[in-house]
Amino acid sequence: MRKKIVAGNWKMNMDYNEGLSLFSEVINMVKDEVTGQQQAVVCSPFIHLHSLAQMAKGYGKIAIGAQNAHQAESGAYTGEISAKMINSVGATYVILGHSERRQYFGENNALLAKKTDTVLANGLRPIFCIGETLDERNAEKHFDIIKSQLAEGVFHLDEAHFSQLVIAYEPVWAIGTGVTATSAQAQEIHAFIRQEIAAKYNDTVAGHTTILYGGSCNPKNAPELFAQPDIDGGLIGGASLKSRDFVDIVK
Ligand code: PGA
Repeated sequence: MRKKIVAGNWKMNMDYNEGLSLFSEVINMVKDEVTGQQQAVVCSPFIHLHSLAQMAKGYGKIAIGAQNAHQAESGAYTGEISAKMINSVGATYVILGHSERRQYFGENNALLAKKTDTVLANGLRPIFCIGETLDERNAEKHFDIIKSQLAEGVFHLDEAHFSQLVIAYEPVWAIGTGVTATSAQAQEIHAFIRQEIAAKYNDTVAGHTTILYGGSCNPKNAPELFAQPDIDGGLIGGASLKSRDFVDIVK
């Protein structure tokens, strides 16, 4: 059976102390809720990672992740953070290819393919984000966009490495807008993603890949979205900043 995951993406929010108090509330509320093949993940800014990882010790179902990593192993890249550094503070996941990174930081599929390799080589699991813009959907290009983001970003991986990935489908028009994809729209793309994985690798790999939905997910719409056969949880932005909302989504 594949893992069910709810991952919070705090983005560039929460100073150090705010982050620690939010996370301690989250731990207290979710520690008995997440069981079996379920996993809660909190992807914080870099400054929180070490402390959150310490706080999460002993709670196997609560993991910590970063929101980005540099593609190089180390070197003269002033201001950057490497995958090895992220691993060394106890984080286990890294969001890669978020649409905000693609849009504001010029990250393209070729760069993301390199980042994926480096992150995997350092023992971390990428949460690899894909998704179309509103213009692309209106032009009915959404399937092509998803296909090329997968083909160019992650399909160079061999089966063992690909199996470490979590995929997140995040339609750009749904991120932070309050407009969620309908469960039917999301399911349609998730099924397509799984088909593409099966065609590239095989049915077993496709069946084991966790595919998250992200984009204005909240405690109200999560139950219907997560009930879809190919939706295995969510990547949660705004609602992950309120412990109660995040925990309700996990529940
Ligand atoms: P949102 O963000 O839940 O605030 O729409 C999701 C994301 O960007 O990961």
